[in-house]
Amino acid sequence: MAILRLADYLFPRSCPLCGLPLLAPGPAAGAVLCEGCSGKLKPIQGEVCLRCGKPLISELGLCMRCRERSWPFDAAMSLYSYRDEAAALIGAYKFRSRFSLASFLAEACAARLESRWPGLPLVPVPFRRKKIVDKGWDQVEALSKRLEARGFQVLRLLERLPSGEQKRLGLEARLDNARKAYRLKPGETVPSALVLIDDVFTTGATAAACAEALKDGGAATVYFLALASD
Ligand SMILES: [Zn+2]
Ligand SMILES: [Zn+2]
Repeated sequence: MAILRLADYLFPRSCPLCGLPLLAPGPAAGAVLCEGCSGKLKPIQGEVCLRCGKPLISELGLCMRCRERSWPFDAAMSLYSYRDEAAALIGAYKFRSRFSLASFLAEACAARLESRWPGLPLVPVPFRRKKIVDKGWDQVEALSKRLEARGFQVLRLLERLPSGEQKRLGLEARLDNARKAYRLKPGETVPSALVLIDDVFTTGATAAACAEALKDGGAATVYFLALASD
């Protein structure tokens, strides 16, 4: 009985987005979503901001946000815009612990990494310990493990210190808070170029704080990959 339930958890029989039964469930890319939903899932393509990777609508080169501020990372890229099917997908992965989606998302990350920033080591953004205790797993680490199995070098260089809740703060306060929350693990050596990875890119405070810590530690170039950005 327990084995059956575990199998269902690892290889779910229903689409996480619409709930329709899956005919050929399995961990391979495509088989974790029904055909209809995988067809509607649109990765970010076309013109994007040169710094943060957001899709551009009428701007050229840089988005409005990146015209007003600079980032400590050199460029960022996200697989999806955080809405519609992509938001449901990331939500299912992040909040409803659809563990089976880790392989699907890792495949998507691998393809983007190999085409844009090939051969660079990956540095995962560390999760909050409390969240791991609450939810029982670290979704960025689950993704990192799968990328590692595909041959990517993963360097767990950063650590997360306990800090206050981010949600109710303005951007500057968030940046300041995040800066205190992430640091390089003592004694670690930082490569000169690397890709920081996280699940969602929202205000950018976390990515900025981690990139700053890595640059202070000796990185010359820090790129940032997120599953989705809003
Ligand atoms: Zn579906
Ligand atoms: Zn931008």
